[in-house]
Amino acid sequence: MANPTVAIVGRPNVGKSTIFNRIAGERISIVEDTPGVTRDRIYAHGEWLGHNFNLIDTGGIEVSDQPFMQQITAQAEVAIDEADVIIFMVNGRQGITDADERVAQLLYRADKPVVVAVNKIDNFESRADVYDFYALGFGDPNPISGAHGLGLGDLLDEVIKNFPEVPDPAPDDSIRFSLIGRPNVGKSSLVNAILGDQRVIVSEVAGTTRDAIDTKFVHSGQEFTIVDTAGIRKRGKIYEKTEKYSVMRAMKAIDESNVVLVVLNAEEGIREQDKRVAGYAHEAGKGIIIVVNKWDTLKKDNHTQKQFEAQIRMEFKYLDYAPIIFVSAKTKQRLQQLPELIERVNVNHEKRISSSTLNEVIMDAVAMTPTPTIKTRKLRIYYATQVATAPPTIVVFVNDPELLHFSYKRYLENQIRKNFDFSGTPIHIIARSRK
Ligand code: GDP
Ligand code: GDP
Repeated sequence: MANPTVAIVGRPNVGKSTIFNRIAGERISIVEDTPGVTRDRIYAHGEWLGHNFNLIDTGGIEVSDQPFMQQITAQAEVAIDEADVIIFMVNGRQGITDADERVAQLLYRADKPVVVAVNKIDNFESRADVYDFYALGFGDPNPISGAHGLGLGDLLDEVIKNFPEVPDPAPDDSIRFSLIGRPNVGKSSLVNAILGDQRVIVSEVAGTTRDAIDTKFVHSGQEFTIVDTAGIRKRGKIYEKTEKYSVMRAMKAIDESNVVLVVLNAEEGIREQDKRVAGYAHEAGKGIIIVVNKWDTLKKDNHTQKQFEAQIRMEFKYLDYAPIIFVSAKTKQRLQQLPELIERVNVNHEKRISSSTLNEVIMDAVAMTPTPTIKTRKLRIYYATQVATAPPTIVVFVNDPELLHFSYKRYLENQIRKNFDFSGTPIHIIARSRK
């Protein structure tokens, strides 16, 4: 499940985010002439010749109040800590600078493969400039142009050659889950409290990066794996305090999980950062449970839980399918219910409904609330079938997909949820026209 990670490192303005966007295939971060503009995303998926990988733009990790060289050092450290292969990017129009040399020195000491990308080689004549970068000491420099998309294929070929060889993991029925949330909500306390009651069977290096440690335990015959507990452990590097870095860690953990526990802090309530992190889990299509921790800290009456729940439902409208559990890592309140809940959400996430049963439900739904007519054209639903699990994905064959608007789709989803237990999992409904 764990894909290799590629990090792009290099001083500001060499073109890291331009290349990041090209490789990720979407315009997901802002490119401007100003060095150090705020970037949206620094973590994305890439694919090249059938190899899937995670991609990090370390340039997006800005440690506030740090001098220039400290910033560059922190970014190189992120690359060294997180990546299996590092793309070291330089500017082919400027030659080697002090900052390039600083990065090179850090990378020599790291035991990770480094591929040099010489960017801004926009035309054939300037290719000669590339040879200067042999002096960095990382082998053949690869000329590229982010502006024109040149040389990227050769660069990625080189990157892929350096991927670690991972044996196919043995088939595993373990349910993989992660705990995500902003700092101090109690993620590591929860992990410890959960594990305190369980027999931990192994703690092993999994995935491809050395510091990704998964912890396994068995509960009522079901094996569980807590993803990325090492990421939760505090190591005390300066970049770990940045929000970009913690969001990146969370996205990586989400990728590798079947079920994601979105942890909130009852004491502090819901914050903006909680919503961003939860949004990523939702987008990734994983099973989700909302865990409200530190429940012991509130003075409660008969309404406290209902009120808190209402607030969560209002703030996280798109997560209406996610069950909510109120716990305390400190007193262990309700923690023993967690494994069963995770297991149930995982079953729902992987649930497959037969076409005949599904069509009965859909046809009943249409009988109860007839399909809408939009600009004199009536939506007709012919047939529905579940085409995928994790998350459950249903294709509905119709006369014209444009006629299946959000509200009717929502109605169908609710009818499906009334008939089958899909709690904790998103359902994707896709309209296709029947030929
Ligand atoms: P970062 O700070 O390393 O992430 O650099 P950016 O990706 O933000 O790019 C810095 C500037 O260089 C922007 O103005 C880009 O448009 C420009 N740039 C990026 N790649 C190329 C390239 O291949 N050729 C040229 N001429 N400009 C480029
Ligand atoms: P993380 O940054 O999300 O991993 O959070 P930690 O597990 O390090 O917890 C942050 C702080 O909250 C620590 O001081 C914990 O002792 C405290 N804490 C964690 N869970 C609970 C809880 O359920 N109740 C109370 N009262 N404190 C908690």
